[in-house]
Amino acid sequence: MSELTEDELKNNYREVKERIAEAAKRAGRDPKEVTLLAVSKTKPVSNIRTLMAEGQRAFGENYVQELTEKISEIGDAAEWHMIGHLQRNKVKYIIGKVRLIHAVDSVRLAEQIEKEAVKTGSEADVLMEVNIAREESKWGFMEEEALDAAHEIAAFPHVHLHGLMTSAPIAENPEDNRKYFSGLRELARRIGEEGFDNVSMDTLSMGMTQDYEVAVEEGATIVRVGSAIFGKRNYGVKEVPSGEK
Ligand SMILES: *Cc1c(COP(=O)(O)O)cnc(C)c1O
Repeated sequence: MSELTEDELKNNYREVKERIAEAAKRAGRDPKEVTLLAVSKTKPVSNIRTLMAEGQRAFGENYVQELTEKISEIGDAAEWHMIGHLQRNKVKYIIGKVRLIHAVDSVRLAEQIEKEAVKTGSEADVLMEVNIAREESKWGFMEEEALDAAHEIAAFPHVHLHGLMTSAPIAENPEDNRKYFSGLRELARRIGEEGFDNVSMDTLSMGMTQDYEVAVEEGATIVRVGSAIFGKRNYGVKEVPSGEK
């Protein structure tokens, strides 16, 4: 499968930025409240560099090995986000190297992050993944488990819980996912009200290529956009789509 040209990539990028800004304005929000996370999984480092030259800083990756390879090539000039399902035995490879771990889906994973953070003298900013649409195939806490889990995660002093993340169902019509995005926002508000020490519910990571504009209208502070920027992914042997089990 052919990669996009540099111009195509830049045009896609500008269009996504523009649409985010418009969605924010429609909702009476400041576009600066929304971070575009460019999801570069399976895409070459050359594409990342092209976007960095356009001013993009934050990149999201799903696979630990691909993430660490890209970090070793590009380093701190970019900001790295781990957005995929994370196995406990892989935490050690990314601890201290990423700006945010989006998909903490068990208290045991948070505990492992705590251990590795202590070991390496670092701290970790994380989000809890919530399976807000209750899909059989997805990782994440169920809505009714989230508050207690947040309370438990709050007890790990080197793990800082900043909010919630979700991957909404595949939808023909992005409007179908609006209820899930508003549901995640509402859940974050309820958890925030508890005032747990070491927890701030200031980040909502939601919205992908199919539905990021609706997510922005519903309060997303991070949208994770891959194919609208980089083009379709080459589904090789290694890819399992978006956080599916
Ligand atoms: C791949 C992926 C994305 C980006 O998906 P697109 O539909 O290409 O925008 C976002 N979030 C997660 C968790 C992913 O795995």
